[in-house]
Amino acid sequence: MDFSLGRELEMLRSMVQEFAERKVGPQALALDERAEFPFALAKEMGQLGLMGLTVSREYGGTALGHVARAVAIEEVSKVYASLGFFLQTGGILPYALEAFGTEEQKRKYLPALARAEKIGAFALTEAGGGSDPGSMQSTARPADDGYILNGRKVFITLPEVADIIGVVARTGEGFSAFLIEKGTPGFEITRRETHFGLRAAPVNEFVLSDCKVPRANLLGPEGRGLVVGITGISVMGRLGAAAVALGTARGCYEAALKFAKERKLYGKPIAELQALQFMLVDISTEIEAAKWLVYRPAQLLDEGKSARELGTDIARAKLYACEVAARAAASAVRIMGGYGTTPEYQVVRRLRDAIELWAGAGTQEIMKVTIGRAITS
Ligand SMILES: Cc1cc2nc3c(=O)[nH]c(=O)nc-3n(C[C@H](O)[C@H](O)[C@H](O)COP(=O)(O)OP(=O)(O)OC[C@H]3O[C@@H](n4cnc5c(N)ncnc54)[C@H](O)[C@@H]3O)c2cc1C
Repeated sequence: MDFSLGRELEMLRSMVQEFAERKVGPQALALDERAEFPFALAKEMGQLGLMGLTVSREYGGTALGHVARAVAIEEVSKVYASLGFFLQTGGILPYALEAFGTEEQKRKYLPALARAEKIGAFALTEAGGGSDPGSMQSTARPADDGYILNGRKVFITLPEVADIIGVVARTGEGFSAFLIEKGTPGFEITRRETHFGLRAAPVNEFVLSDCKVPRANLLGPEGRGLVVGITGISVMGRLGAAAVALGTARGCYEAALKFAKERKLYGKPIAELQALQFMLVDISTEIEAAKWLVYRPAQLLDEGKSARELGTDIARAKLYACEVAARAAASAVRIMGGYGTTPEYQVVRRLRDAIELWAGAGTQEIMKVTIGRAITS
């Protein structure tokens, strides 16, 4: 039995599969070694409509929905998770804009973001602790017809390649979200973080020094910035990360199964060794379970349930799928023996990507805190 997607989404899956295998696969190893953001592939994914799957048609998207987005992220990530992570992170700002932006902001930014002609990033995390956004130190104070922002953000995916960045900062007692365009004086990228996995999706630190933004760049109501940020990160970040993890796990499983069928010991394929079959059985079973956990909240979002109603289901999807990806990758490395740790087989690369997903869009422990609160309240 499989999750029933319908004809349109199965066509999308085939199209993304073909793109990923033909265009992304041959470049994955080199891109990862060089930790290089693939602008051309990102642009191509934009032209295929993959960044605009949840954006309304009137703002330049295809409005195919959250299941479609999960399909696209899963298939791209099966081949190369860094690019799936680009779709995941790049989707947060468009979602926040459509949910909370003014009509003028939507018309100005969404069409180009939906086609990946412009790239968006979203910055909540600071050095004081990503799990505790209330401790945020960045500030925005009103000035003339806008705000002046000061502060430092860390661990933010994409700023060095982004055109527009959503930034949350403290405004008095509360927090507000702002749109900062590339080139705004006072916005400076100060570091590219060296990361162990998802290496082609750059992660930066940036500083805001008296960075002035017009009032028109306030995203959502003043004082509601944490709601803007956390809603975007929960729906697009967490569910997206779960889809990246699902694709990563499938990539590991398929690579390990192929290897086990081809590699011969004692005159027969090692796939016949029960010890290895059991590992393959565990991975394939966990992938099936993860698939349902990921696609069900996506489907409910498409049916109109709110981010708030689905927070627990999305946290479960992220928690479980990310654990499955790491276990699948570790098993794949073991099944391949000494070959497993060579770069060519790309299972150690997938293990690094899977581990990176533990903290992205909220840690595994924070997923448990979210679920724990819901089940005990
Ligand atoms: C690849 C990657 C990409 C990222 N991209 C972005 C981005 O685009 N935008 C953005 O804003 N941020 C981004 N982040 C940051 C990410 O959201 C944070 O790393 C994450 O929220 C954790 O914050 P921290 O690293 O400061 O860890 P901390 O919050 O300091 O956590 C440290 C440890 O304490 C545990 N912990 C914290 N609170 C609790 C609790 N209540 N109960 C139990 N355990 C707890 C954590 O699980 C962790 O084990 C990214 C991170 C990574 C790794």
